[in-house]
Amino acid sequence: MKEYKYVILGAGPTGLAFAHTLNTLGENSFVVLEANATAGGLCRSRDVDGSPLDIGGGHFLDVKQQPVLDLLFRFLPRADWQEHRRVSTIRIRGTEIGYPIESNLWQLGVDDRLDFLESVAQAGCVRGEPMPESFEKWISWKLGERIAEEYMLPYNRKIWSIDLNALGTYWLHKLPDVSFRQTLKSCLDSSAHGTIPAHGVFLYPKNFGYGEVWKRMGDALQNRLLLSTPVNKIDLPTMTVNDNLRAGTIISSIPWTVWPGIAGIPAPVRSRIERLEYASIDVDYREQTLATTAHWVYDPDESVPYHRILCRNNFSGGSRGYWTETNSKRADAEAGFRYRNEYAYPINTTAKPDAINGVLEWAGQHQITGLGRWGTWEHMNSDVAVAQAIEAANRAVQGSPPE
Ligand SMILES: Cc1cc2nc3c(=O)[nH]c(=O)nc-3n(C[C@H](O)[C@H](O)[C@H](O)COP(=O)(O)OP(=O)(O)OC[C@H]3O[C@@H](n4cnc5c(N)ncnc54)[C@H](O)[C@@H]3O)c2cc1C
Repeated sequence: MKEYKYVILGAGPTGLAFAHTLNTLGENSFVVLEANATAGGLCRSRDVDGSPLDIGGGHFLDVKQQPVLDLLFRFLPRADWQEHRRVSTIRIRGTEIGYPIESNLWQLGVDDRLDFLESVAQAGCVRGEPMPESFEKWISWKLGERIAEEYMLPYNRKIWSIDLNALGTYWLHKLPDVSFRQTLKSCLDSSAHGTIPAHGVFLYPKNFGYGEVWKRMGDALQNRLLLSTPVNKIDLPTMTVNDNLRAGTIISSIPWTVWPGIAGIPAPVRSRIERLEYASIDVDYREQTLATTAHWVYDPDESVPYHRILCRNNFSGGSRGYWTETNSKRADAEAGFRYRNEYAYPINTTAKPDAINGVLEWAGQHQITGLGRWGTWEHMNSDVAVAQAIEAANRAVQGSPPE
């Protein structure tokens, strides 16, 4: 039996950032357990057809969080990253226009522009109607019927593959914020207006996939990281993990839905965990290089299974080909390299906030801290997961700052 102050479950960005922050603070009593043979979680990459491919889907580093950049640049220096100004497009009416649609209608022909402009002008939010509670109704309220029917509804049916009425509206700050006035202005001066919450400017490694920095962070932990070691048993009364690791505190970045199979969870907490939903994503590689300058393309057409195309030749030096992201429920027959991510997106259902709050409250009473995408069931990017882990490790070692 080995004893540690912290046993960290999962070596994705969250577990890695928590562990390295402990190290920096001089706290050495920890170990990280990871089910996969490589560190990095959803941010891992592999070489496919001679170039890196991000097997968890297209991953780009947002440049807004300096403490996160400082940590990552220790392992992959700034000079090894290329800065890109985001080019992302939407396939609509047989052409490709910039994202978000409501800022880029000016790129369409006059009749199509009129159709969509009319849609936005008649939207509930422009007419002063109250914001609806369900995501499905919110789409028409925000962008009008035509944009809802031709783009937002089919796209969201594809990516989530659940009844859209089950989705809440508490996460919409993650979507672009473009007012009707800005849409009109875009059409009048033929340039995009409004804000995109993430990745307006992003970094991608020059000579590697996104996974390289996380792999290096894993390697640097040496024997404090146990790879190919799934957590398969947790005895809560003694805080013992896999029969041989005793924890002061358990840091869980693995999905809560795994916990009922490995630990004695009380029935009320288990029923909350059962209400946490997630989507699985297949990443499929194709060797053709597409004629577009976009880094990625959104495709709402429901006659094709994928919802997003990543044109890696436009962000990964010297590469060719593209990969697609498809909700696994819609996947067709495998026709080349495919990687299935069972846990890809936590789903923001109306039931989620109450369910996850109850789980985290119970965890907090048992010296268990839920962190990251699966520990808080938050649809967060890797920079946010790292920032959260840095802050939590600081708090754990140094205590809360004075009020
Ligand atoms: C399609 C897609 C695109 C994305 N694009 C971006 C982007 O452009 N930019 C960005 O910053 N972020 C992006 N993200 C989000 C990013 O992937 C996550 O924020 C990040 O991976 C979260 O890190 P994490 O450590 O919390 O979770 P994960 O990366 O999921 O790591 C969890 C780890 O726990 C391990 N684990 C699970 N069960 C067990 C077990 N029983 N025992 C031991 N280990 C276990 C897993 O193997 C995994 O390594 C994207 C995500 C997806 C799905």
